[in-house]
Amino acid sequence: MKLILLGAPGAGKGTVAKLLTKLDGSVQISTGDILRGAVAAGTELGKQAQAFMAAGDLVPDELIMGIMEKRLQEPDCENGFLLDGFPRTIPQAEQLKTMLANLGIELDMAVNIDVPRDVILDRLTTRRTCSNGDCQAIYNVKSNPPKEEGVCDKCGSPVIQREDETEEAISHRLETYNEKTAPLIGFYENEGLLMTVDATSSDAVINAIQERLGATA
Ligand code: AMP
Repeated sequence: MKLILLGAPGAGKGTVAKLLTKLDGSVQISTGDILRGAVAAGTELGKQAQAFMAAGDLVPDELIMGIMEKRLQEPDCENGFLLDGFPRTIPQAEQLKTMLANLGIELDMAVNIDVPRDVILDRLTTRRTCSNGDCQAIYNVKSNPPKEEGVCDKCGSPVIQREDETEEAISHRLETYNEKTAPLIGFYENEGLLMTVDATSSDAVINAIQERLGATA
């Protein structure tokens, strides 16, 4: 499947993407994970992105489009892809449209995961992430803590609160979402690609997506 996952930070895009990859071999492409990996590895991209990310601001469109143009042409995308955290602005969506047309790729849908603000705030303030840039496993201090406090179950690296998940940075990220990313809902509605799911459980989101894809297949 070839999907865009839309939704505020904390809506569950990453969790849903990971579950969907198990269904048909589609790959998850998270621009946030790619950028955090670059920051952890100290690459040129990471150096350019770091300050924007720490402040909860978006990284400039040019940097993101450069990453995505290469990523979408990697062979593993042939089985399908789940775009998680991209596009984030109308210019990114417009450039993606042109890029996909040039590559002869057709999207199935843009899925808007619509979760109430209080649930989002609670999830983001209690979320913890593995600090290893190649792992980035997600935990939650309330609902899914690591077996040993502060240590990743998967790779043994420290589990931390992301720099952009302090209360101040979170509220800025949500403002940025409302201003820059929420307009994509109208964009994909006009494209005839939008599906909105208002479910807080990732299983319910997956079921709704599978039902819709089954109905259109
Ligand atoms: P995420 O993990 O998707 O919440 O992304 C974390 C941070 O990475 C965001 O707050 C932005 O600073 C940056 N970022 C991720 N994806 C994008 C994108 N498509 N456009 C611009 N900035 C992005």
